Amino acid sequence: MYLVAEVALNVPLYRNFDYLIEPHIQSDIAVGCRVAVQFGRQQLIGIVIKLKSDSEFMSKLRPISSLIDSHPIIDGHLISLVEFASHYYQNPLGESYQVALPNLLNKGEDLDKSAVPIIKLVDQNTKVTGKKQRQLIEHLIDSGSTPVTELSALGFSSSTVKSLLEKSIIEKTIEYNRDWQSKPLAKGDKPKLNREQAVALAAINQQSGYTCYLLEGVTGSGKTEVYLQALEKPLQQGQQALVLVPEIGLTPQTVNRFRRRFPNVPIMLWHSAMTDHERLSTWRAAQNQSAAIVIGTRSSVFLPFAQLAMIIVDEEHDLSFKQQDSLRYHARDLACFRAAKLAIPLILGSATPSLESVQNAKNQKYQLLTLTERAQTQTDNQYVLLDMRGQHQQSGLAQATLEYIKKELKRRKQVMVFLNRRGFSPSLICHECGWLSQCQRCSANATYHKHIRNLICHHCGSQEYVPTQCPCCGSTQIIPAGQGTEQVAEFLSEAFPDTPITRVDRDSTRKKGSLEAALNEINKGEPRILIGTQMLAKGHHFSEVSLVVIMDVDSGLYSYDFRATEHLAQLITQVSGRAGRSGEAGTVLLQTHFPEHPLLQDLINNGYQDFAHYALTEREEMQLPPFNCLAIIRCESHNPNDINNFLYDLIPEQLPSGIQLLGPVPAALERVAGKYRYQLHVQGNERKELHRYLNQLVSYISQSKLATKVRWSIDIDPVSM
Ligand code: ADP
Ligand code: ZN
Ligand code: ZN
Repeated sequence: MYLVAEVALNVPLYRNFDYLIEPHIQSDIAVGCRVAVQFGRQQLIGIVIKLKSDSEFMSKLRPISSLIDSHPIIDGHLISLVEFASHYYQNPLGESYQVALPNLLNKGEDLDKSAVPIIKLVDQNTKVTGKKQRQLIEHLIDSGSTPVTELSALGFSSSTVKSLLEKSIIEKTIEYNRDWQSKPLAKGDKPKLNREQAVALAAINQQSGYTCYLLEGVTGSGKTEVYLQALEKPLQQGQQALVLVPEIGLTPQTVNRFRRRFPNVPIMLWHSAMTDHERLSTWRAAQNQSAAIVIGTRSSVFLPFAQLAMIIVDEEHDLSFKQQDSLRYHARDLACFRAAKLAIPLILGSATPSLESVQNAKNQKYQLLTLTERAQTQTDNQYVLLDMRGQHQQSGLAQATLEYIKKELKRRKQVMVFLNRRGFSPSLICHECGWLSQCQRCSANATYHKHIRNLICHHCGSQEYVPTQCPCCGSTQIIPAGQGTEQVAEFLSEAFPDTPITRVDRDSTRKKGSLEAALNEINKGEPRILIGTQMLAKGHHFSEVSLVVIMDVDSGLYSYDFRATEHLAQLITQVSGRAGRSGEAGTVLLQTHFPEHPLLQDLINNGYQDFAHYALTEREEMQLPPFNCLAIIRCESHNPNDINNFLYDLIPEQLPSGIQLLGPVPAALERVAGKYRYQLHVQGNERKELHRYLNQLVSYISQSKLATKVRWSIDIDPVSM
């Protein structure tokens, strides 16, 4: 007989809590149910993770206040996924559930009550007199069971529904529409696969059970087409699939492509712009199988599919798959755990796979499938390394670059200029004394936004007016230093007054719908210059762009972060994938002061695969991931002494073998919003050893008094430093 429930609560403590099970809920309570409990003076909602007959605190236990669910809301598989994530990323279990479950469920929403009921026809034979009632019955005969919300949208009033319900001609249930599972799979038009695509698809279809495939192919090589055809097998069997996409990659085009291909299976979405209710309905649809495919961003990896048979991670190298607070998980890596546990295939696709994945393919942990040819064009882009040394430049653009732009515009083509810095200039400088506009609260410059005449810190958001005089020497000669997209757009519109310019960055797209409007303008295909940040680099297809200019290559070549070169190579390759899609080769122009840099040379002469190989040798020599395992303990506080005391206390006299500690070192930005930030790097030769050590370390920290004076966090397999 279970008398005690162990409950995971969303509190920042590395432990769970025991509560008494009172007799009236004993027969209903189960692992995976939510309960409301008293915690201190608060009422909290938690998940039952274990039932026990006893507890070491038996005499002090409080009873469960109420049982929210009469049956578990999550199954054993999802429980094991959250437990794995919590353990692997060293995050408290209750907090991890908070991340894994939809908001409304965390708040205690009744899972059944909020479901949209479905109207089902149960009796076709009884005659009815009302015209509307007859129409409703005919509708149900034609279209099958229909959600009530849809009926009201179709013009059937609730009184019509009610009177048929009273005659028991129809029935209201919260059963779900799973008709798609028994119907034959309808398929929209599809192209005949080229040889490489066919080989990839055959490899995927051949095996059953878990295999992780790394599908490497340049943009336009037909990866999505392979996903679509690989999905046929699970869908035909009435099974579900999850398609994970980067934050920015969930465009209507992508979704429509899936919908057009599979017109009779329900495809649902999951992303951060959806409301809590919309998200809950996708969650429920994954669970009750009324969704066949979910296309979603990072946290959709936690959706409770009942029949998951395939996971696809598109653009697997994308940084948005890593969560940067609370449970710092990588959705790709959790997808890997899930697929292995369920014994189903996992497809990772990218034009520029992460070095981790490339290495896993080399080790045969992943099966590499390569697409080398563009599906629709045979031409490769041409790279130009533009030597910036001694070049005359205006707003960061070399004279030679302007000539290239002019030439393409004359051919009535579009040009894309890429600069990953928004605003007018990254700072203002006093021409007399050298004063620089800086954020008062961060160790960073304050960016000049000319249009709104403000200095804005991009790290803490503080804003102030542009001073009319230098705060140091009183001079009025305050000038912009460096370039941002706002300035380049202004300059280009003066240099090419007859050509429309579209700027795409976080500032220019703040208004809802403005990004779509900009993309529509671009897609009209008229000559145009596009200038933007990484928002422009990802996911969008521009068929008329024949020249891509990458303005600031150099900041990625020499950086504090050992991953910077990998990210630069990915960016260059991805951006160049935006050019020349309409059947002719495009030009990719890189402005750099280091045209001989081996990385650039390797990348443009031999391509990303070769670069990856070279970069991996370098990582191996320096014993960096993926050749060892890395975790970062981050710490911040207004008081640097508290940080020092905390971090130095973690350094033992003797380390276990195979573990190295590095630091404390200041974070890339030493101060943000008035707080100092330092970090300690923990490296392990082996994953197991590192985790054993981190377990001890975290349990030590959770007892440490010094830890209570600072904010600390731990980041396993960090993607940025
Ligand atoms: P990726 O996902 O690698 O960027 P896509 O699958 O989107 O590539 O393919 C790029 C374009 O080529 C799309 O318009 C797609 O419809 C088309 N395409 C893909 N495979 C083929 C094929 N085998 N034959 C003809 N067109 C194809
Ligand atoms: Zn001055
Ligand atoms: Zn700031």
